[in-house]
Amino acid sequence: MTGPAALLADVNARIATACRIARRAPEEVTLVAVSKTHPAAAIAPLIEAGQRVFGENRVQEAQAKWPELRAQYPEIALHLVGQLQSNKAEDAVALFDAIHSLDRSSLVVALARAMDKAGRRVPCFVQVNIGAEEQKGGCAIAELPALLAEARGADIPLAGLMCVPPAGVEAAPYFALLGKLADDNGIPGLSMGMSDDFETAVMLGATHVRVGSALFGARG
Ligand SMILES: *Cc1c(COP(=O)(O)O)cnc(C)c1O
Repeated sequence: MTGPAALLADVNARIATACRIARRAPEEVTLVAVSKTHPAAAIAPLIEAGQRVFGENRVQEAQAKWPELRAQYPEIALHLVGQLQSNKAEDAVALFDAIHSLDRSSLVVALARAMDKAGRRVPCFVQVNIGAEEQKGGCAIAELPALLAEARGADIPLAGLMCVPPAGVEAAPYFALLGKLADDNGIPGLSMGMSDDFETAVMLGATHVRVGSALFGARG
């Protein structure tokens, strides 16, 4: 076995090993294959190898790439993992099966309106700015309870919390903190862990790992 199928098998085996060590069932962890910047021709082999959940970080790129792939493979689920502008909420609700970047009040309003209009409720992860980094997306930890209450009030299905820890430092403390915030707030899922740290994330309770370069190779 070579190429995409081998990379997928390797990532799945590493998730399974982390689950075994942490005494978790592998079915508790969803691998989101982040295919941003990669063309349909690079994605299809991964689907053929059995991968079913994919992530994109830009609405426009996903709109250009996915309709054709989904016509061919109707069982695919597509997740938005990147920041979302309120004026793209309708497009996002139409295209995605989950949104990992709900991080502010104005977006709760825009997504709730878009879901009402489409007659479709899309599960959302609330993104937390877990390292309190100025330039990063995500709501401040102090604002999380209020944002969750707003989302619940607007009937947005809450799938979990999501974070991207600060670069260049050990991610584990940030994953543990996100887990604690989810517990404190009665939230079920945890979207955390990328190519460099998904095993750590699984051991700390991740339900969704977002893996790009370990599956597709480095982005250009
Ligand atoms: C690109 C991206 C990923 C995947 O990153 P890799 O390091 O390539 O695995 C995960 N999450 C988000 C939000 C991303 O933008």
